[in-house]
Amino acid sequence: VGRGEEMGLEKLWELQELQLGLERIQQELKNPSQGKELKREKERLESYYTQIQEKKRKGERLQEQLALHENTCRSLEVKKKDTEAKLYSGQINNPSELQNLEQQLTHLNKEISVYQEKIKELNMELQEVFGWVKEHSQIFQGQVGEYQARLEEYRLWREEREREIQDLKLRMEKLEKELDEDLLRHYRELQSRLGLRALARVENGCCSGCRLMVSIILMQKIKAGERVQCENCGRLLIP
Ligand SMILES: [Zn+2]
Repeated sequence: VGRGEEMGLEKLWELQELQLGLERIQQELKNPSQGKELKREKERLESYYTQIQEKKRKGERLQEQLALHENTCRSLEVKKKDTEAKLYSGQINNPSELQNLEQQLTHLNKEISVYQEKIKELNMELQEVFGWVKEHSQIFQGQVGEYQARLEEYRLWREEREREIQDLKLRMEKLEKELDEDLLRHYRELQSRLGLRALARVENGCCSGCRLMVSIILMQKIKAGERVQCENCGRLLIP
């Protein structure tokens, strides 16, 4: 055993490091903070888009209302002209009829000015609404561009992690072939009970897995090249 076992343990340690690296990357991929952020950003952009569309529809409704008022105003103007034409035609001499026409004209003028006021207000509101829509559409477009760039970056990051995983797996396969079968089997059995870190180094006389002192007897066995497990945590010890 002796030297050969020690070499085997070093390789096994290397294997454990690779396994831990793989585990870390797989966790990162399973629960990526970038992915979560992007998802939140996508939802925010969707609600922003809905908000802009709603405002646009509001503007369209105002435009329809404006068109109706303008129509009404035009027909009132036509009525006004007709009334004026009758009034000043010189063909109507009946005083009460003339008075009636004058009253109609006054009434029409009042109505026209009411509609003109409404039209003015609607135009102002429309300007405000479409100004808002224009401004926020531009902001939205910019943010969508940023989001897409980040999404692409994230996709590349995932691809890179996948390549790392493939690379780690290849290196692990290679190492496993080089390792003593019995040692590997022992290691796997320990991992099934202790988790990935089934190997621990002896550092300053302590097991690096549980931080407890390794007994002198065990230290002697390790020095003699025997395969030794920590008395406390059960991990395989490397000198
Ligand atoms: Zn231990």
